[in-house]
Amino acid sequence: MKTETRILANWGNFPRLRAQISSPDTIDEIQQIVSQSEKMIARGNGKCYGDAALAPKVVSLLNLNRILFFDPKTGIIECESGAMLADLLQVIVPAGWFFHVTPGIKNITVGGAIACDVHGKNHPAKGCFSNWLLSFRIMQADGTVVECSKSENARLFWETCGGMGWTGVILSAKFQLMPVSSIEMRQKAIRADNLEGLFQAFDKHQDWTYAAAWVDCLATGSNLGRGVLYLAEHQTDNASGTTLEYPFRKARNVPFYAPSWLLNRLSIRAHNHILFSKASDAEQTVDMDRYFYPLDRIQNWNRLYGSRGFIQYQFCLPEKNSLAGIKAILGLIKKSRDLPFLSVLKRHGERPAEAVHSFPIKGYSLALDFPRTRTIFSLVEKMDTCVWDFGGKIYLAKDACSAGKMGRLDPAAFGEAKFNSTMRERLTL
Ligand SMILES: Cc1cc2nc3c(=O)[nH]c(=O)nc-3n(C[C@H](O)[C@H](O)[C@H](O)COP(=O)(O)OP(=O)(O)OC[C@H]3O[C@@H](n4cnc5c(N)ncnc54)[C@H](O)[C@@H]3O)c2cc1C
Repeated sequence: MKTETRILANWGNFPRLRAQISSPDTIDEIQQIVSQSEKMIARGNGKCYGDAALAPKVVSLLNLNRILFFDPKTGIIECESGAMLADLLQVIVPAGWFFHVTPGIKNITVGGAIACDVHGKNHPAKGCFSNWLLSFRIMQADGTVVECSKSENARLFWETCGGMGWTGVILSAKFQLMPVSSIEMRQKAIRADNLEGLFQAFDKHQDWTYAAAWVDCLATGSNLGRGVLYLAEHQTDNASGTTLEYPFRKARNVPFYAPSWLLNRLSIRAHNHILFSKASDAEQTVDMDRYFYPLDRIQNWNRLYGSRGFIQYQFCLPEKNSLAGIKAILGLIKKSRDLPFLSVLKRHGERPAEAVHSFPIKGYSLALDFPRTRTIFSLVEKMDTCVWDFGGKIYLAKDACSAGKMGRLDPAAFGEAKFNSTMRERLTL
C-alpha cells in the first residue's frame, strides 16, 4: 500500500492542507488503516470543491476500482467504490445503458457519488443518485463491514447518502442503470430576458427531461437574472445509425495557473454577452459527452481562477421563495466587488422523505463560481444569511467556508467522529 504526505486540495484549490494519504489495494488494508487511525476521511477523486474530502489523514479509494458484476439484460451493475463514472461509461454505453443520474463531471468515483448523493439536470424526473442505488457495503469505525439497502440497515443507508463520508468507508455499491438506444442527445436553448422569464421557461418546458440554465449575474434592471435555458432529451431512434461506443475525447489542458486579473468585470461581461447572443433555439444534435460533461473537455480548468483558487457557492431554495431569494442574492452580488464567472440554475423536484441529507429540496438551486478574493468571505456570509432567511440550504459538496448550520444537517447526529473531515470539524465549531 502506498502512503505519501503532501499538500492536498479539492477542485476549488481552497483550502489546502498537508495530509497523509494512504492508497490501499485491498479491504484488509482499509481495515488496518481504520483500526489504527483515530480520525480519518475517505476520499474519491477529490472533485468536490471545498474541504469535504480533506483531513490530516486520508484514505484514497482510487485503487479499489473493479467492476464486480454487470448484467447487460437488467442494467444492474456492482463495482468497487473507487470506480470512476468515466470507466463505467466504457462498459455500460456499448451495452445500451447510461446513468439515471449523473453530475456534470465523469471523473468522479461511485463512492463520492453516494457520499454527496449527487444530482443531475433531471432532478424533477429522476431524483438523486440514491434513487437508483440498490445497496452498498460500508466499513464502520470498528472495522466491521455492513451491507446496506433501502430495506436492510436502512437508517445507515440513508445517513450515508449525502453523509459526506462521515458514516464510514463505502467499499462497493450496486445500482440500476437506464436503457439508451443512442449516444446522441436532442438539445435546444431558450433565451430569457430576466429571471421571471427563465422561471417561466422552466415551467413551460417541464416535459423535457434535462433542463439547466445559465444566468448572467452581471445583468441589472429589467434584465436582472437574464439567461439561457438549455433543454435536452436522449435520442431514441438512433437516426444517424451511430454505434453505441462512448465518444471519449482527449481533453485540452490548462498547463498553468492563470493570473488573478484574467477574470475581471470586463472579461466576464464579454463572456456573458457571447453566451447570451450565441444561444439559438434551433434544435441541435450533440453527443452525450458534449451534453453531460462539457467542462471535462478542458483538463485543469480550475487553474483559470488563479493559484488562490475559487469557491463554488451552490444553494437551494424552496419553490415559493426561489424567485425572490435568487433576486436577493443577485442584488448582493451587484453590490459586492466579487463576480461569479460561471452560474448554473436548476429546478429540483420532491425528494424521498428518508433522503434527509440529499442537497436538493423542491425548488431551485443556483451554483456560482467566484475567484477567491479577500472580500469573498464577507459576501458568502451575506449570502448565507439571505439563503437561511429564505428557508434554503447550501450544497456541502461545494462548501468551503459557509456557516455550520447552512447544510441544514447536524454533524453531531452522525455520532461516530472517527470519519472526520476538515469540513466536519469546521461545521461543528
Ligand atoms: C466540474 C464539476 C461539475 C460538478 N457537477 C455536479 C453536479 O452537476 N451535481 C452534483 O451533485 N455534483 C456535482 N459536482 C460535485 C461532484 O460530483 C461531487 O463532489 C462528487 O462527490 C465528487 O466525487 P469524488 O469521487 O471526486 O469524491 P471526493 O471529492 O473525493 O469526495 C467527496 C465526498 O465523498 C466522500 N467520499 C468519497 N469516497 C468515499 C467512500 N468510498 N466512502 C465514503 N465517503 C466517500 C468524501 O469523504 C467527501 O466527503 C461537480 C464537480 C465538478 C468538479
